[in-house]
Amino acid sequence: MIRKVILSSGNKHKITEIKDIFKNMPFEVISKNDIGYEDFDVEEDGSTMEENAFKKAEALHGLVKGIVIADDTGLFVDALNGDPGVYSARYAGEPVSYEDNNKLLLKNLKDVSAEKRTAHFKTVIAVVFEDGSRMTAEGTVSGKIAFEERGENGFGYDPLFIVDDTGKTFAEMTEEEKNKISHRARALMNLRKKLEETGENISNQR
Ligand code: IMP
Repeated sequence: MIRKVILSSGNKHKITEIKDIFKNMPFEVISKNDIGYEDFDVEEDGSTMEENAFKKAEALHGLVKGIVIADDTGLFVDALNGDPGVYSARYAGEPVSYEDNNKLLLKNLKDVSAEKRTAHFKTVIAVVFEDGSRMTAEGTVSGKIAFEERGENGFGYDPLFIVDDTGKTFAEMTEEEKNKISHRARALMNLRKKLEETGENISNQR
C-alpha cells in the first residue's frame, strides 16, 4: 500500500523539491493545498528550527490522515552572529517580504569584506508518522553573502547566497542544479536514508 505524505507547506518550490526526492519511494506526496488547507498557517514563534518544524507538522497531523512533513530553514550569517537564523522569514518584520529581507541583510553587511561574508543555510525536516511518532533530518550548505542580488531563479535569499565551490548564487542556478546541492535537498536525502534504514519506506502497518 502506498502511504500518503502530506507537506505542511504551500511553497511550490519546496513541493517540487520534496516530490523529486521521494520519487521511486512508496509514498504519495501531496501538499496541504491539495487537500483544502491553503489557509492553514502556524505561527513560527519557537526558539529553535526544530521546534518550529514540529509545530507546523503537529498542527496539521491533528487534522489529516497520513505522514506529515514540515521543514524549517534558516540562513546563518557569521558576521551577524548567526542572524537572521531562526528569524529568517521575518527578518525585516511583517508583512513578510523576500525583497525587504534581502535589503536589510545587505544593509547590515555593508561594511563587511568579501572574505568575512561567510554563511550557511540549514534545513530541519520534521516528520510525524500516522501513529504520532517522530523523526528529524537536517541538511546544510555553506557559502558567502554577495554584495548585490544576482540571478532570477529560486526564492527568498537565493539571489544573495553564493554557494561555495560554484561561484554562483542559488538564483543563478537552474532548479535542477539547486536541488542537487541545497540545504533542503541534503536534509531530504538524509531523511530518505533514515526512512530506508528504519524500514519506514516499506512498512505500511501503522
Ligand atoms: P521557512 O523555512 O519556509 O520558514 O523559511 C524561512 C526563511 O528562509 C524564508 O524567508 C525563506 O524565504 C527563506 N528560505 C527558505 N528556504 C530557502 C531557500 O532554499 N533559499 C533561499 N531562501 C530560503
